[in-house]
Amino acid sequence: MSLTTRFAPSPTGYLHVGGARTALYSWLYAQKNGGDFILRIEDTDLERSTQASVDAIMDGMNWLNLSWTKGPYFQTERFDRYKEVIQQLIASGNAYRCYSTAEEVEAMREEARAKGEKEKYNGMWRDKTDYPDSKPYVIRFKNPLDGNVVINDLVKGEIVISNEELDDLIIARSDGSPTYNLTVVVDDWDMGVTHVVRGDDHVNNTPRQINILKALGAPLPEYAHIPMILGDDGKRLSKRHGAVSVMQYRDDGYLPEALLNYLVRLGWSHGDQEIFSREEMIELFDLTGCNRAPSAFNTEKLIWVNQHYIKSLDPEYVAKHLAWHMHDQNIDTDNGPALSDIVKVQADRVKTLKEMAEISRYFYQDFTEFDAKAAKKHLRPVAEQPLQVVKEKLAGLTEWQADNIHKAINDTAEALELGMGKVGMPLRVAATGAGNSPSLDITLALLPQDKVLARIDMALAVIEERKANS
Ligand code: GLU
Repeated sequence: MSLTTRFAPSPTGYLHVGGARTALYSWLYAQKNGGDFILRIEDTDLERSTQASVDAIMDGMNWLNLSWTKGPYFQTERFDRYKEVIQQLIASGNAYRCYSTAEEVEAMREEARAKGEKEKYNGMWRDKTDYPDSKPYVIRFKNPLDGNVVINDLVKGEIVISNEELDDLIIARSDGSPTYNLTVVVDDWDMGVTHVVRGDDHVNNTPRQINILKALGAPLPEYAHIPMILGDDGKRLSKRHGAVSVMQYRDDGYLPEALLNYLVRLGWSHGDQEIFSREEMIELFDLTGCNRAPSAFNTEKLIWVNQHYIKSLDPEYVAKHLAWHMHDQNIDTDNGPALSDIVKVQADRVKTLKEMAEISRYFYQDFTEFDAKAAKKHLRPVAEQPLQVVKEKLAGLTEWQADNIHKAINDTAEALELGMGKVGMPLRVAATGAGNSPSLDITLALLPQDKVLARIDMALAVIEERKANS
């Protein structure tokens, strides 16, 4: 039988990093074994589910390039099937009508609590056949009364739960709508899911789901419960800790490769290897290599991984992602250097693509002011002559390229008997507006010659003004 995994988000928010990691592990496991990966939208909670959230989840999956081979399936489209299975369970004596009211069930709980026993529904309608007329009822699953449920969890190892701990679960509400554990069981069965990979917040549901599957005579999948992700304070990762939405990481300037690589390592390891290409992840990933303990999210490490990919992926590819940020920051890149050239000169200088876009604005847009601090320091009267001389030499270049530009700067420094910095720094501020840039000759070569000359004139005007005011 072929292997099938699934990712089954409830569309009640964006795709967060915990969900993305679960999706990644499911996806990797299917890829590794040549199996199918299903996307299933668990949208039965009509009040909390939204189309915007379905879109956001799919956007996140697409951005990470985690493509599903089957689906998306929507649980709201499968209500007839759930009803059919509920009827099947009733017919086979595995489910029954329960007429206990909410108050009665609460009283049962209280009674158990008073006796120091586990709080649960007492099963009073379990074997009744005599039903009251026209009163509302729910359908409960007849959980086995004795014996154990044993889960051989691929991550957590053997988990044994006594049936005595489990009460008769509601599988249909009084309006007939199916509950979460029922829908998941029916779907996993119908969709041929062989491996359920999910967060360990669901581990308590698993024995219940196994019992229902057994009652239906359905094959049992393997389970892998992934420990949760913590924030740096050891508490469950949430918005308090910073960005948790996958698309926020895109907005903040991370590459999908970096986030995926970071997430695969967050809860799984292969020796001490940190960097994994997609192909390597697929080849080396295994559910049995996942940590049993929760992992803490570490932004510093994610930044490190992001820098690695910014520097090492093909600049043409990184440029496509940079283009998104340029657009996001209203920088029109139609005229100016190729974005891949920007990636080449800026890759070593940034942590994120957002930052790369921010510091590359001057390649595409003119500025009307110089950075105040840089101007104060470098556009002083002593810089007037070096700027004039270097401008003349730059203006005379017939081939506008880095070597010639370098020579022009060098010749200026030599002619004026100045250190390179005394020419270079004012020139840098003039051409870029600020005191930081990649190597000056390369930076100038990426700008049009006439633009550089005009910007030098602008800097000279600032110096003039300063002289006049002193
Ligand atoms: N819909 C559930 C959730 O978003 C996941 C159910 C499952 O993976 O079995 O938490």
